[in-house]
Amino acid sequence: MIQKDIIVVGGGIAGLTAALSLVHKGKDVLLIEKNENCGGLMNSFERDGFRFEAGARALVNAGLVKPLIKEFALDIEILPNPITLGIEDRLLKIDGEQSLYLYADVLKDLYPESKDEVDRIIQAIHEIIEDMKVLYGVDNPLFAKKKKNALTMAPSVVAWMLKYIRTMYRIVKMDIPFEDSLDVLDTNQSLKDIIGQHFFRKTPVFFALSYFALYNDYIYPKGGVGAFMQKLVEAVGARGGEIRYKTEIVCVDARNKMLKDSVGNEYRYNKMIWTGDLKALYTMTSDEGLAKQSLGKFRARKQAILAHKGAESVFSVFLAADLPPEFFHEKASGHVFYTPNRRGLKTVHTTELQALLQRWDTVQKEDLYLWLERFCHYNTFEISIPVLRDPDAAPPGKTGIIISNLFDYELTRRIRARGWYEEFKKRVEKLFIMTVSSSIYPNLKDKVLFSFSASPWSIYERVGSSEGSIVGWSFEGKIPVVTSMFKMGSSVKTALPDVYAAGKWVYSPAGGPTAIMTGRIAAKQCK
Ligand SMILES: Cc1cc2nc3c(=O)[nH]c(=O)nc-3n(C[C@H](O)[C@H](O)[C@H](O)COP(=O)(O)OP(=O)(O)OC[C@H]3O[C@@H](n4cnc5c(N)ncnc54)[C@H](O)[C@@H]3O)c2cc1C
Repeated sequence: MIQKDIIVVGGGIAGLTAALSLVHKGKDVLLIEKNENCGGLMNSFERDGFRFEAGARALVNAGLVKPLIKEFALDIEILPNPITLGIEDRLLKIDGEQSLYLYADVLKDLYPESKDEVDRIIQAIHEIIEDMKVLYGVDNPLFAKKKKNALTMAPSVVAWMLKYIRTMYRIVKMDIPFEDSLDVLDTNQSLKDIIGQHFFRKTPVFFALSYFALYNDYIYPKGGVGAFMQKLVEAVGARGGEIRYKTEIVCVDARNKMLKDSVGNEYRYNKMIWTGDLKALYTMTSDEGLAKQSLGKFRARKQAILAHKGAESVFSVFLAADLPPEFFHEKASGHVFYTPNRRGLKTVHTTELQALLQRWDTVQKEDLYLWLERFCHYNTFEISIPVLRDPDAAPPGKTGIIISNLFDYELTRRIRARGWYEEFKKRVEKLFIMTVSSSIYPNLKDKVLFSFSASPWSIYERVGSSEGSIVGWSFEGKIPVVTSMFKMGSSVKTALPDVYAAGKWVYSPAGGPTAIMTGRIAAKQCK
C-alpha cells in the first residue's frame, strides 16, 4: 500500500499544473499517469527526424502560460506562432487586431452578395475582442504594473467594475449557439460555414467569435509543445513530487480514500485530484459506504454525467515532405486554418452524416467514401508546420506537416466495428493530402516521404477520453458541469469527499487555458 497526502490522477496539462502548484508549496504529492509519458493531449513525438505535435499544435497563452513559466522559473524559450487564415487562394497572415478588417475584405471579395452581412459579423467580432480586453485584464486597473494608492485608484476601479458588469451581462446574453446567432446576422450559408465550420457544433457565440483575438495569442515552445510539458514534469520532480508512469487507476474507494490500479496496487490519499475522464471517475467509484448526504449528490451527478457526450474529435494526418520549409513559407505561416472551397460544408457534417449513421447497416464502403470526399472537399483544415516555427523540427531541406479537421467519433467507432478501419485511415490520409496538394501546396502529393494518421479512436485509446473528445463536453444538449465564469471556482468540486477534479471535463467551454486554471483552483482547494 502506497500512502501519499495528495494524489493527482492524470499527467496532462491540468494534472501537471495541479501537481506543480502543490509541490511548490511543499506538499507531498504523487502523480499517477497511465501512459509511458506525461502530456496527455499536449505532447510531441519524433519520427525519422521529424517532430510532430500529436495533440494541440501550439499553446494559447491566454494570460496564463507565460506567467506559469515565470512563476515556476521554467527554462524554456517561447517562439512566435503566427496564424494564417485561408480560403481558396486568399491567404491572410493574422497580425494584430487590424487584421480583422483585412479578413472582412477577403470575405467581401469571396461573397460580394453579402457585404452587409460581413460588416455585421466583423462588428460583432470587434465587440467581443473589446469584451475580452475587459475580461482578461488588459484594461483592469488592478492588474496595472505600478499600483497607485487606494484613494487615487478608486475612480478607475469603479469605472472598470461597471464596464466588467456590463461585459459579463453581454456575455451571458451571448451564451447561445454560434450557428443560431449567425442566423440573425447572416443569411448566406456558405459565409456562415466559412466562419464557423472549424468550431465544435453549437459552440457558444462568445467563445467562437472570441477566437479571432486568440489567433494573436498562440505561442510555440522551442522543442515543441511536448518540451513545455517535459519542463513541467522536471519542475514537479525538482520539488520532490513523485510521478508513476504506466499506471492506470481503475477503481476508487471513496469511503476509505483508496485507489487501485490495473495490476492491483493500492494507494491511499488524504486528498485526490482527478484529471481524467469524469464518466470514468463516476463509473469506477463505488457508492458503497458513502454518507447519506454524499450518496444522493453522487448518484445525481453520475446520472447527469453519464447522460451527456463529449464534443467532436479530430482526425490528424502526419506527413513528411521532401520539400524545403521555404516552399511552405512562401504560401503561409506555420499554423494555418485553411478552407479549400468557399462553398462550405453546408449539411455534409450534420444531416448528411446523421443520415449515413441512421442507415449504417446498409451503407457500403463506396457510399462512405463518396461522403468522405465531399467532407474533405468542403471542410476547413488546421495545418501545422512545426519547422516554420522552430528550425530544429525537421531534417535540413525537408518539412513535416500535420493536417487535421474535426471528425465524428461515432462514425470512426462503427467503421472500426465493420473491420474497415485501417483501409479507411489510408483513404483519409490520401484525401487530406490530395486536398491540400490541389490547393494551398501545389503538387505536395508527389513529394511525400511517408504519412500516417491518428483518428478519434486513437485519442480515445491514448488518454481515455469519452468519444475521443479533445475539449470535454459537447455543446449540444445540457452540459453537466459549470459553464459560468462566475462559478469557475466551484467547477473542481465532486460529489465525493476530499476528491477534486480538474481539466477539460470540469468546466465548459474547455481547452488548454481552462485546464490550467482548473488545475490551479483544484490545487488551492487541497490546502
Ligand atoms: C489536435 C488537438 C488540437 C487542440 N488544439 C487546441 C487549441 O488550439 N487550443 C486549446 O485550448 N486546446 C486545444 N486542444 C485541447 C487541449 O489540448 C486539451 O483540452 C487539454 O490539453 C486537456 O488537458 P487535460 O489535462 O484536461 O486532459 P488530458 O490532456 O487528456 O490529460 C489527462 C491525462 O490523464 C491520464 N489518465 C486518464 N485516465 C487515467 C487513469 N484512469 N489513470 C491514470 N491516468 C489517466 C491520460 O493518459 C492523460 O495523460 C487540442 C487538442 C488536440 C488533440
